[in-house]
Parts: sequence; C-alpha cells; structure tokens
Amino acid sequence: MSNENEKAIVIVGAGEAGTAAAIAVREAGWPGPIVLIGNETLLPYERPPLSKAILIDETNPEPKLIVTAERLAELGIEFLHGSEVVSIDRAVNMVTFSDRARLGYHRLLLATGARPRTLSIPIAEGSKVATLRTYEDAMAIRQTIGQGCELVVIGGGFIGLEVAASAASKGASVTVIEAGPRLLTRSVPAPIAELIRAKHERSGVRIETGVVVARIDVSEGRSNVVLASDRTHPADLVVVGVGAVPNVELAHAAGLAIENGILLDETLATSDPFIFAAGDCCSFPHRLYDKRIRLEAWRNAQRQGAAAAASMLGDNRPYEEVPWFWSDQYEETLQIVGLCEEGQIPIQRDLGAKGQLFYYLTDDGRVVSACGFGSLGAIAKEIRVAEMMISRRFVPDVKALADPAFNLKSLLA
Ligand SMILES: Cc1cc2nc3c(=O)[nH]c(=O)nc-3n(C[C@H](O)[C@H](O)[C@H](O)COP(=O)(O)OP(=O)(O)OC[C@H]3O[C@@H](n4cnc5c(N)ncnc54)[C@H](O)[C@@H]3O)c2cc1C
Repeated sequence: MSNENEKAIVIVGAGEAGTAAAIAVREAGWPGPIVLIGNETLLPYERPPLSKAILIDETNPEPKLIVTAERLAELGIEFLHGSEVVSIDRAVNMVTFSDRARLGYHRLLLATGARPRTLSIPIAEGSKVATLRTYEDAMAIRQTIGQGCELVVIGGGFIGLEVAASAASKGASVTVIEAGPRLLTRSVPAPIAELIRAKHERSGVRIETGVVVARIDVSEGRSNVVLASDRTHPADLVVVGVGAVPNVELAHAAGLAIENGILLDETLATSDPFIFAAGDCCSFPHRLYDKRIRLEAWRNAQRQGAAAAASMLGDNRPYEEVPWFWSDQYEETLQIVGLCEEGQIPIQRDLGAKGQLFYYLTDDGRVVSACGFGSLGAIAKEIRVAEMMISRRFVPDVKALADPAFNLKSLLA
C-alpha cells in the first residue's frame, strides 16, 4: 500500500467509473500515486455482458476486463482488490479499510456503484432466488438457465428482460412478472415497450403485467412464486430485477450530502471540495434538463469517471454529457438518448423492418430525447444524430423527423 504521507488520488470502487477515473488521472499527467480500491476480488470488469454474453456463451465465459493487470502496472496505478473502505475521516483526509489500515488522500473519488434492490416480501428459506450485479451472480444464474429450466423473473426492467431473453434463447421456460401496468415504465416510452413485449412473446416468454408477488415459498425442493391473487408460478430459479439502490452509506456516514445518491455539483464535487463522485452512486444537476438526475448507465459511468478525474486535477468544467443507454433484447438493440419523460411530444420515424424510433420534443419543438428499437446499425446511426440535436438544443422540422427517407444529419450541417 502507498506510503501514508504521500499525497495520493484515492478511488473507492473499481467498477466502470472508478477505473475510467484512475486511467484518466494518469493520462492527464498526475505524477503522484493513484490508488484504486475495489471490494471485489477480480480485476475491474464490464457489467453489461453479465446479463447477455456471459449467460449465453456456450464456452466457459470469462469476465470482460476493463483493464489488464499489465496496463494498470504500466500506468502506475496501485490496485487494491478485495479491499473494503469502511470510513472516511474528512478532518485529516484519510480513508480507513476494514482491516483498520488507513490511507491519506489528496483528492478522493467515490465510485461505489449501486446494488440490486431487494423484495420486501416473505421469502422462504431454501428458495432459489438470485439478483444480478456481479460476475459471481451471473455465473450462478448461468448454471441453472438451460433447456427445461423454469425461470421466473420478477421485474420487467432492463436487467430482468435481458436475463429473460438470454434464458429463453437457451431453451428455458420463462415468465416475467411486472407489478407496473407495462414493461420498462421508468425510462422507455410505451410504444417501444410494446414492441419489446411483442418480441419476448414471439420468443415464447410469458409476460404478466399489473401483477403483484405476495411471497416466495418452497415445496418439494422447488420455489413457488405466489401472487397476491393466490396464483402460483413454480420455478427452478427466481431472478429478481426490481431496480438498484445507490451505495451511499460510506458518504452518508462521512456527513456528505445525499439526495437520490451522493449529491454532486455540476463539476462532480460532493459537499466536501476534496471529495468527488461518479457513476451509479451519485446524482448531479444536468443543464439540458434543468434538474438533478442519477443514471445507471455504462457510458455515463465511464465518461463521468473521466470528467471527475479532470475535476480532481483542477479542470472543473460542468459535466454535460447527454444520457445514453443501450440494451440488447435477442438480436435487436434498444437505444435511448436523453431523458424520456411524460409530457413530451412524440414523433415517430418508422424504419420498417429495420426498427422504430420515437423522438420527443418540448412544447417549443426542441428534441430532448429519442428512443429506438431494431437492428443495431440502423438504430445506432439515428440515435447518434438525435444526440447531436439534443446537445445543440436543436429545433428540427417535424416532417423531416418523421420521414425515414430524409437524412437528418443534413439538418445539422
Ligand atoms: C447485469 C447488468 C447489465 C447491464 N447492462 C447495461 C447495458 O446494457 N447498458 C448500459 O448502459 N448499462 C448497463 N448496465 C449498467 C452499467 O453496467 C452500470 O451503470 C455501471 O457498471 C456503473 O458503474 P459504476 O462504476 O458506477 O458502478 P459499479 O460498476 O457497480 O462499480 C462499483 C464498484 O465499487 C465497489 N465498492 C462499493 N463500495 C465499496 C467500498 N466501500 N470499498 C471498496 N469497493 C467498493 C463495488 O463492489 C463495485 O465493484 C448493466 C448493469 C448490470 C448489473
């Protein structure tokens, strides 16, 4: 571990945001020590494949690393794996580990991520219930979801639906149970959620919306998902995907402000100017939307990590990246750019067999979000143009938006 007296940039959390920050700090020319601390034992790895390739690949799937040990060594980044930071002493700028070791920091980045939300219903001992956040979680789910397995997924959000798609493609019999009136209520507009539902149903997945789970029982070695209506779904495995909660306990115990995550200003500083945060664990004000948001998205974690690195080194510009998210459902892609919210005016762009896009506009015609579902090539191209429109606060011609033959990029030239 680094000498306690050296001024290190210390990063707690070796996920997407923390690792991007560690690399960016060095690449920006910071000459001093960088310590990246992770409580998982593996080298930093990507989470998106956990619900996709890692569940499906026939050969033994390895985690997809964000960075190799050699690259960390080359960059002079000290990586402490299997290490948990348990407290922050802001009076002397030090963190304390679970083994009571202490480490001083010049600047501290909290990139502690999020953890799966759990169900507050009775769950009988011995029921086979899983959540998905880590590589170990994915490997445990992978072991069960083969041909003939009965899988019940509780929660019709991104992770639940990706697990459902992966399991169905491996021959499992899958039921998705969602309490809300439709799938993907939080961030996907209704018409696209409907297309995704149809895609799942064509692949043999049963989807029940507006259905509440009362408890999970065990009988004869199998789990039973019991609904409020008393109907029962037997399962070899129940995967719970009902959202994530930000890991804020460390920040909260240190007296940092919390508001739907660790509260940041637009330069990603916490309420302590020596401590910054990035990724799923934090909320920040976004100029485009004129409000505080928290994102659980891969690209945001990566870019926010890099932006927090710059801020820690004194280049504290506002973080203004347009939110972007993707999800794979079978061989199709879903992409969302901006924030899809109630009250926005939808304009449909019908790409036929290649997919569907919806643009969302404010009352004065500005594009604030777009969401598309279909083939990767077609959707990604249109979403990139939509992102440019959103960041430029562009007011497009509505007829052009709706015309699939019109090259929207030409509007921005
Ligand atoms: C299964 C799955 C699929 C996903 N698919 C997509 C997708 O298709 N598209 C997309 O845009 N996004 C996707 N995401 C979201 C994306 O992966 C996350 O937004 C991103 O990983 C967040 O990065 P992060 O660094 O903020 O947090 P994390 O990656 O969670 O990393 C935080 C790390 O900090 C560690 N930690 C926490 N507290 C401490 C402590 N006190 N001491 C030491 N270490 C600590 C945690 O254990 C963890 O390793 C997916 C997520 C999951 C789980």
